[in-house]
Amino acid sequence: MTPDFDAPVNCGTCGTHLTSQDPKNFHYSGTVLKRVQCLNCANNEVVELYVDTEVLTSQLMLLAAIQTYPKKTSDEALLRWCVALDRVTQVMSRIKEGVKTFETLVWYDGLKKLVRTKSNIHFDKGGLELDTGCTGGRALIELTRGDARLTLITDESSTANVMGVQGIYAKEEEALALINDTVKLWQTEWSKS
Ligand SMILES: [Zn+2]
Repeated sequence: MTPDFDAPVNCGTCGTHLTSQDPKNFHYSGTVLKRVQCLNCANNEVVELYVDTEVLTSQLMLLAAIQTYPKKTSDEALLRWCVALDRVTQVMSRIKEGVKTFETLVWYDGLKKLVRTKSNIHFDKGGLELDTGCTGGRALIELTRGDARLTLITDESSTANVMGVQGIYAKEEEALALINDTVKLWQTEWSKS
């Protein structure tokens, strides 16, 4: 059943009445709509998940980047969001340093050339996997190990340092290890294969 996205509904978490104009977050289990949340409650879950687990997610990265803070809620919640998002900003800046290293030592040291001749590349070793995909002049590079995932995006033809983080689901140390271990494997094995 397709939900009526514009129908008035109450937030499943805080109970706030949401009109057709209010942004809503729809949670599914498979194709079944489980609940609807107001944006504030949905964002709150993203921040609380980080406070509890230190797992960085794409939504969290976005909240930190656009400096989103809770609305209509307590000072305590606001403080927790500020501390968490400030921390995420610092963590992401360290991960972005790692991405620059990856860009120099992997992308500009052969991967770019490989991607331009054969768009879907796959390498794996010891649970670490590197996959690439290209679309519309953009190259996506996904590094995964277990549940940890870091997706990088760059311009397939650019010669500038434009690589960035497109998506993430990992703790800081997992993300940095994905980058560092890929650099090592690239230098010792993958670039030679
Ligand atoms: Zn709510």
